[in-house]
Amino acid sequence: MKEVVILGAGYAGLRALHVLQGAKGDFHITLIDKNDYHYEATDLHEVAAGTQPRDRISYPIMDVVKTNKTTFVQKEVATIDRDQQVITFKDQTTSTYDYLIVALGFESESFGIPGVEEHALEMVDVDSAEAIYHHLLKQMQDYKQTKNPDLLKIVVCGAGFTGIELLGSLVENRKTFAKAAGVKPEEIKLYCVEAVTRLLPMFEEKLSDYGISNLVKWGVNFLTGKPIKEIKPGVVIYQTDVESGATEALSAKTIIWTTGVSGSHVMADSAFSARRGRVMVNQTLTDPEHDHVYVVGDVSAVLDPATNRPYPTTAQIALKMGQHAAKNILRQMNGEQPIDFHFESLGSVASIGNTHAFGLVGKMAVKGYPASFVKKAIMDRSLYQTGGVKEVLAKGRFDFYH
Ligand SMILES: Cc1cc2nc3c(=O)[nH]c(=O)nc-3n(C[C@H](O)[C@H](O)[C@H](O)COP(=O)(O)OP(=O)(O)OC[C@H]3O[C@@H](n4cnc5c(N)ncnc54)[C@H](O)[C@@H]3O)c2cc1C
Repeated sequence: MKEVVILGAGYAGLRALHVLQGAKGDFHITLIDKNDYHYEATDLHEVAAGTQPRDRISYPIMDVVKTNKTTFVQKEVATIDRDQQVITFKDQTTSTYDYLIVALGFESESFGIPGVEEHALEMVDVDSAEAIYHHLLKQMQDYKQTKNPDLLKIVVCGAGFTGIELLGSLVENRKTFAKAAGVKPEEIKLYCVEAVTRLLPMFEEKLSDYGISNLVKWGVNFLTGKPIKEIKPGVVIYQTDVESGATEALSAKTIIWTTGVSGSHVMADSAFSARRGRVMVNQTLTDPEHDHVYVVGDVSAVLDPATNRPYPTTAQIALKMGQHAAKNILRQMNGEQPIDFHFESLGSVASIGNTHAFGLVGKMAVKGYPASFVKKAIMDRSLYQTGGVKEVLAKGRFDFYH
């Protein structure tokens, strides 16, 4: 009996599991994750801002495991030896495979900027997102005692998709922070420091302006064209002039790092040929050196023939890749050749709070409340693709009443 191992129960891993569990054949599946729950990474900003509790964006992995076909193992992967076909875990135990799907997802990327890892908060999984919310509440409670204005300041580093969505949720929950601090909501100061001036280049200017100008209207202070040079305890140092190298300092007791992500460190630790933790895979989604090893989701880079650049890492493409890798493994086990991956983006929509959003559906621009409706439908769709009807009914977003 062939052994198919899936590493990571995120979007890509669970989608692959769904396809494999639904197929007939003489094979067994082992699903491995360091947690015993799946979380919707696209909603992490809401846990960080406290607009959703962690249970709302996660569910037990065993909910989707068919035990007659699959064994779930909760372990942390340390390395993968592709020549020996052996996975080594952090606890030094090992597992073997015939076919492997690597779907270990993303990590925070510091770009080598000093102080980021030590002094900024990262938002990469449910624990780190929840830690941000607890940190925020603690700063607010401390303000009541000390009246230190830095405790009311929140700096989001990076105005990419993640940073913008986080700012939207922070604005939305400002009342909670203000109440904890005993101040007015407008006294909670929100900043965003960003290196470039043209924000969210994936959207046409009119659309990104809509999102940014709303956040500005709601009180977010954008410092754009200001590359961050260092994070010190409670201080962001950013450059104000490229030629002279002049810098300024912004002090705040909450500094959240959302400038970018890389793929899991396991890729580099396992000698995959990876750039920022992403492996440039074949069009079939296999590792160029091992045709029984599929690399999918945020640890993978697939060339978009239209632009000759890798597709951006998104949940949408991770789901498609997981599905495709599983189908290709079924083909290989059947003695057929794997087929190439094709991807057509359905568009993307960024939320700014619960009732506002903006983005593209296909090629159509959407904004405001209708866009927020679409965003919830997109999230319910991906929840359905990993967790099925049961999880959509339990965790789906149906509050279409605003
Ligand atoms: C705030 C935010 C908003 C986003 N919004 C959108 C959006 O609107 N639309 C969109 O398409 N994308 C969005 N994204 C991007 C999207 O979340 C990622 O592209 C997606 O999560 C990648 O899916 P994945 O399956 O590759 O990995 P992940 O979802 O990261 O899952 C990886 C899994 O691997 C497990 N794992 C990791 N390391 C180990 C290890 N060493 N051993 C064992 N298990 C391990 C993790 O526990 C996790 O279950 C957003 C991301 C963030 C952070």
